[in-house]
Amino acid sequence: MSVITRRTFLATLGAAASAPRGPHGFGLGKQSPRSIQTVTGAVEAGRLGVTLVHEHVMVDFVGADRVSASRYDQDQVFKTVLPHLRQLRDLGCETLVECTPAFLGRDARLLRRLSDATAVRILTNTGYYGAAKDKHLPPHAFTETAEQLAARWIQEAEQGVDDTGIKPAFMKIGVDEAPLSEVDAKLVRAAALTWRRTGLPIASHTTTGSAALQELDLLEQAGAPLSAFIWVHAHAERDVAWHLRAASRGAWIEFDGVAPDSVERHVDLVKHMKDNGRLGQVLVSHDAGWYHVGEPGGGQFRPYDTLFTRFVPALKAAGFSDTEVQTLLVDNPGRALSGQIPRG
Ligand SMILES: [Zn+2]
Repeated sequence: MSVITRRTFLATLGAAASAPRGPHGFGLGKQSPRSIQTVTGAVEAGRLGVTLVHEHVMVDFVGADRVSASRYDQDQVFKTVLPHLRQLRDLGCETLVECTPAFLGRDARLLRRLSDATAVRILTNTGYYGAAKDKHLPPHAFTETAEQLAARWIQEAEQGVDDTGIKPAFMKIGVDEAPLSEVDAKLVRAAALTWRRTGLPIASHTTTGSAALQELDLLEQAGAPLSAFIWVHAHAERDVAWHLRAASRGAWIEFDGVAPDSVERHVDLVKHMKDNGRLGQVLVSHDAGWYHVGEPGGGQFRPYDTLFTRFVPALKAAGFSDTEVQTLLVDNPGRALSGQIPRG
């Protein structure tokens, strides 16, 4: 596909997303459409346009005990990331969901600065990341109850992150493998409690199907709908039967490892869901970017382009229609992020 064709094609997707929902606007009867918080303010649900649901601007893996804004120069990060977001905008993408959690390099001010400079909408998150053997959890995550942790996340959802006034659009948590540790299970319960007050969707870094299903059980017990759950990194689970199992219970299945060397595999994963009537529950993204704090110049920044330059053409070669591509890039992200029930 030429650049012009691709732009026109993606522009069409954006326009279609902005149109009022027709008789197939499933879920709206039950849950009224609500606004979605971006780092520059609220937008109406259904207006996100073409969206990358899982990317990173900056990460710092040093650990919760040492992570700090003093470890990087915000101007340098801004300058490094800026051209990549401009490229993304040129490719027709309007919204980027930034999945770096607190204690791992979340910087809402930096995100707002980048969004202002590029007109790419950016969404940030609340919640804690319990994967990587709890290295990125602050001490209070171990001592407080699920209710106390939820109170912290609800505070961020209602008042904004730190003193920025910037409100998160979703929760990002993370768990290690099943059986879930005590603290990981507590994070899932805290997420359910936060959902009950805020309705924010719960994106959880989860690399195995057995852990994902345990999270679904915990959410159900805590009274959260499973359509609020996004199984992040579902492609890391090699047995595709787990994807269908989680989808049949109502969860969103996110294949967010689209990269030059994994285009074909991601097409197969999405096709498997489509062939089983579950395209309406699939999310796709790169999990790219990653200015690495602590590495010279932020290390090797991975651009956000493969999905547009290679993955979409590969989907079309595999028989996906324009409407199905729109489902993946526009409708499903908008639906997942506004807490609507998947089409299933
Ligand atoms: Zn990620």
